[in-house]
Amino acid sequence: MAKLTVSDLDLERKKVLMRVDFNVPIKDGVIGDDNRIQAALPTIKYVLDHKGKAILCSHLGRVKKEDDKKGLSLRPVAERLSNLLNKPVIFVPVTEGQQLEDAIAKMDDGSVLLFENTRYEDVVNGEYVKRESGNDPKLGEYWASLADEFINDAFGTAHRSHASNVGIAEAMHQAGKPVAAGFLMEKEIQFLGEAVNNPKRPFVAILGGAKVSDKIGVIDNLLEKADKIIIGGGMTYTFYAAKGIKIGDSLVEKDKVDVAKSILEKGGDKIVLPSDNIVAKSYSNDAEHKVVEGDIDDGWMALDIGPKSVQEFEDVLKDAKTVVWNGPMGVFEMPNYAQGTLNVGKFLGTLSDATTIVGGGDSTAAVKQLGVSEKLTHISTGGGASLQYLEGKTLPGIAAIDNK
Ligand code: AMP
Repeated sequence: MAKLTVSDLDLERKKVLMRVDFNVPIKDGVIGDDNRIQAALPTIKYVLDHKGKAILCSHLGRVKKEDDKKGLSLRPVAERLSNLLNKPVIFVPVTEGQQLEDAIAKMDDGSVLLFENTRYEDVVNGEYVKRESGNDPKLGEYWASLADEFINDAFGTAHRSHASNVGIAEAMHQAGKPVAAGFLMEKEIQFLGEAVNNPKRPFVAILGGAKVSDKIGVIDNLLEKADKIIIGGGMTYTFYAAKGIKIGDSLVEKDKVDVAKSILEKGGDKIVLPSDNIVAKSYSNDAEHKVVEGDIDDGWMALDIGPKSVQEFEDVLKDAKTVVWNGPMGVFEMPNYAQGTLNVGKFLGTLSDATTIVGGGDSTAAVKQLGVSEKLTHISTGGGASLQYLEGKTLPGIAAIDNK
């Protein structure tokens, strides 16, 4: 069902509370990659252009003890946001109380305020009480009381039930106030939702990464929905073991071999495994390495798919109309084992007739690092959240947004 979005709201003169994802890397007060701040700008600008008062909140890192708070203030984010918006951002260094309420009362239309890291609420008087991440309803109620409308634009936390997403939304519902998705959230729901629930066919999923155990839920769900499932990366070799192919010293989850067997039985020819691999003497970029087909001898470990597999994968992908990709095809962090991931990514970029979606986490890092992200349709911003979406689970943060 379609969700209410920011463009459905009447924003003028309204106090608009916005949950954004400003969980950026910060070291000694200096922000590293500010992608997440950039990604939140369209919704923030839209609210400001429509003369709303944007009251922003976000979590940053994990706060488990009083001492953790020191390095996890959102103040540097307020400064960066101010530079990016080219306008002042009022920073309020607390998460509740008079100081915050006074600052909000003084806001002009079209102004922007950011209050302190919502996870500061996880530690109160030195005690780890998880008010934010345990979704204390009183906290959600309090934050909801600060505003007329709530926009959730933090897809990255949508799979968690926290006070700053689900708690606020529930309290807004109680108070008869609207809860809408921001543009970033809307895009994620549109692309991931369409792909999983209503894909243009053929629909091909590419699943890679280290472990089968992380992806069982995704495979189970996509076995029902996809026309083909291509498997690559470290989890390949648990499937090899299930098929009786020798794996040498490659990564394997012995306790998941039976699961792999039943997936293969259920999936039949829906499942496509690599036929050749780049095998190395040790887990190192400089180790001796070569391409082998089929069985992998002892003393060798597979660290990437081979060139023949890339061609076979391309053959499956060439007619696809929807592709969802989660997890690299090999140890892409090492240049000698990045070719499989790179070539699959490059090929996806040539599929002009298909919707190509990268489902978060390491795959997002891989396509960015390898420079193939521009040609793809959608790169999801949420790791865990996109995985859960692909598993077909209901994400509490999204469920709590009003339907249209
Ligand atoms: P994931 O977080 O499950 O998507 O896994 C990503 C990680 O899997 C990356 O750090 C890769 O280096 C690693 N990986 C991919 N292929 C292999 C492989 N053949 N052997 C060991 N690790 C791998």
